[in-house]
Amino acid sequence: MGARGTAAPRKATRAKAKRKPTSRRPTTNGVPVSSVSRRAARPASRARFTAPDPVRVAAVLEQLRELYPDARCALDFRTPLQLLIATILSAQCTDERVNKVTPSLFATYPDAAAFAAAEPAALEHAIHSTGFFRNKAKAIREACADIVAKHGGEVPRTLEELTALRGVGRKTANVVLGNAYGIPGIVVDTHVGRLANRIGLTDEQDPVKVEFALMPIVPQESWTLFSHWLILHGRQVCNARKPRCSACPLAPHCPRIGVTVSA
Ligand code: SF4
Repeated sequence: MGARGTAAPRKATRAKAKRKPTSRRPTTNGVPVSSVSRRAARPASRARFTAPDPVRVAAVLEQLRELYPDARCALDFRTPLQLLIATILSAQCTDERVNKVTPSLFATYPDAAAFAAAEPAALEHAIHSTGFFRNKAKAIREACADIVAKHGGEVPRTLEELTALRGVGRKTANVVLGNAYGIPGIVVDTHVGRLANRIGLTDEQDPVKVEFALMPIVPQESWTLFSHWLILHGRQVCNARKPRCSACPLAPHCPRIGVTVSA
């Protein structure tokens, strides 16, 4: 995916199980606050968000460019298909781990047809160490079957066609477009989403909404690099639990929204 890191598959069932009983939910005058009323409250908070000053955004981008001049995709690949496979494998796994698995994987399965025809157990074994291997093997086989059936074995070059492939989401599609085809795309992973909020570029939480909020304020030619910059900065400085604001070059331009503890 971007410089490093990927989104985590959600465990919907477990989350559901942990949900508090209705009687313990927040109440107003003893009346449970319904999801409808909570939804109704959101527009009010959104209304307080003001679009970032373009001068400030430009300063942030300039600083990030200086900080990470060699930013690039950390996944090893030679073809768009290899990047697509590596990106699928990088979910909930480090890029370093993926890069250890892919050389032999790509030697065993040289093209989309080979992946599509892969024996499930063999493919699962080959990618076992990346975690979630059953789901990932299924996604790889299905995406490659679609690539063979609908695109003559070549990974398509548009967001619409990429996201139409089974097992390929918007983030993976943007990784492939930006890093394999040079077509700008903003990849929103946990780092990008967190930093975009803290820096005050958006108050959206949903990754797709964050992407759409960032598009008009980041120059299109910088979309791919911007994702790498934020991922690197999120890992090296602005980490989730305790951002190192005192040592952060972005501090003069950052409102540190939502930051309560920092180093
Ligand atoms: S100043 Fe703090 S919150 Fe803002 S980007 Fe730097 S580390 Fe993150």
